Amino acid sequence: MSLAELPSLRESLEAHGLWAKKAFGQHFLLDLNITRKIARLAAVGAGDVVIEVGPGPGGLTRALLETGARVIAVEKDERFRPLLEDLARASGRLELVFADALRVDEAALAGGAAHLVSNLPYNVGTPLLIKWLAGPWTPTSLTLMFQKEVAERIVAAPGSDAYGRLGVLAQATARAHLVMEAPARAFTPPPNVDSAVVRLEPRADRPSPELLDALQTLTAAAFGQRRKMLRSSLKMLGGEDLVRAASLDPQARAEVVDVPGFLALAGTWIERRAA
Ligand code: SAM
Repeated sequence: MSLAELPSLRESLEAHGLWAKKAFGQHFLLDLNITRKIARLAAVGAGDVVIEVGPGPGGLTRALLETGARVIAVEKDERFRPLLEDLARASGRLELVFADALRVDEAALAGGAAHLVSNLPYNVGTPLLIKWLAGPWTPTSLTLMFQKEVAERIVAAPGSDAYGRLGVLAQATARAHLVMEAPARAFTPPPNVDSAVVRLEPRADRPSPELLDALQTLTAAAFGQRRKMLRSSLKMLGGEDLVRAASLDPQARAEVVDVPGFLALAGTWIERRAA
């Protein structure tokens, strides 16, 4: 049986007696028009390796396979094994890994460069993004569906309410754009919130692991007390002296400091620690 001859996703779910489990953050995309749009936004094709986290019934997986890419799908819920094995047989380019995506070694799985594409489970979306952006292994590109509020935080500009730790980390390591919105009704069952797809392209000049660690420490302190001036929120890390040494205004609040500003703070903090 070829990909085109497979039964519809709804028929496959019914045939295997499967339903969504809330504990695994399961909200399925059963409309192939939507999954094909996500695959187009991922801009992958023949010759590419894609790691997909949480294939579930395989709607996005089908669309990714249609592009000609080789797909390595990491799924925690073993119930989907028979259904996904049908898809693996039909395509010949799908490798299945039943494991927790937070624990897998992507470098070993892919054996080289790979793109990441996923309709992420809500409960682990943010820790997974941090794992992929902080490295050591980083994908060539990431095309990821999040709940809309998280997507907005990833791409937020300084001065906006959504700007915070996640936006600084994401934008320090990658170019990030919100590329598609999906209303709750696009999913089965519909979640309580709308969703959006973010496309991230890791920067060639990514900060070193040491600088990223420092960035995480500083943004945790600065945004932990986001209404306070930096000289107070960063008191334990060097306070006013540190902020001045990084050429920033000690009276500024975290929410107005841009990503280069936070990188300057992190670099200065490392230098002062070493001195
Ligand atoms: N990709 C499918 C789609 O778009 O219809 C399903 C998306 S659903 C939002 C999230 C999927 O991630 C589920 O299949 C769930 O079982 C799986 N999942 C949840 N936590 C996971 C984890 N830690 N590692 C791997 N898969 C996980």
